[in-house]
Amino acid sequence: MSAALEVRDLVKRFTAEGRPVLDGLSLTAGPGEVVVVAGPSGTGKSTLLRCIAGLQPFDAGTIRLGERRATAQTPAALLGAVGLVFQGFELFPHLSVRGNCLLALRVVRGEADAVAGERVDALLAQLGLAEQANAFPATLSGGQRQRVTIARALAMEPAALLWDEPTSALDPGLRTSVAALIRGVAASNISQLVVTHDLEVARAVGNRIYRFVEGRLAE
Ligand code: ADP
Ligand code: MG
Repeated sequence: MSAALEVRDLVKRFTAEGRPVLDGLSLTAGPGEVVVVAGPSGTGKSTLLRCIAGLQPFDAGTIRLGERRATAQTPAALLGAVGLVFQGFELFPHLSVRGNCLLALRVVRGEADAVAGERVDALLAQLGLAEQANAFPATLSGGQRQRVTIARALAMEPAALLWDEPTSALDPGLRTSVAALIRGVAASNISQLVVTHDLEVARAVGNRIYRFVEGRLAE
């Protein structure tokens, strides 16, 4: 299920006046590629990821992933095909690790728990979380919580995976393990986009590194 992620001339504005946050932005991440977008806070990195994931409407441009094509008229076309590893992890506190991973499969894909459960358990084991499957997020470390978020995203079998500031909520010692996780996902041919202000991680994982310049990308 590999497919290139292609963003063309994406425009997103929050206010009628002034320059749009995304001002004709384009990028391509091929299967197995990791594209990094670096930039200080407030430049539009999270907005870009939310638009790609189908979580935020946009004003113009196209976003393609394989056969799917999102436009201003069909902004949610990639919803469910793109995984997003949220900056703050965004886990449900009242659900176990396993419950968090099963929820989207149940709701978005209508999968039976018996089917989804096998895939979730395999992912949790791969990510070193087998023993935490029934634990609640509050009892986990930051690194473990992040890995739950990754398992939850990968359980949807996305063709593309987006990372929002993957090292910002972690202890410095965990930065190298995040880089290893991103490269591990790349090995399974998923197209990835990482936004960060951590240049060390950017260099460790990126096939191409861009920076945000006035709503567009520069190499
Ligand atoms: P980054 O992730 O790079 O820190 P964001 O994408 O969160 O940047 O925000 C980019 C700009 O868009 C900021 O100026 C922010 O205030 C604005 N913005 C983000 N989300 C909204 C929103 N829902 N409504 C209005 N303005 C927003
Ligand atoms: Mg952000």
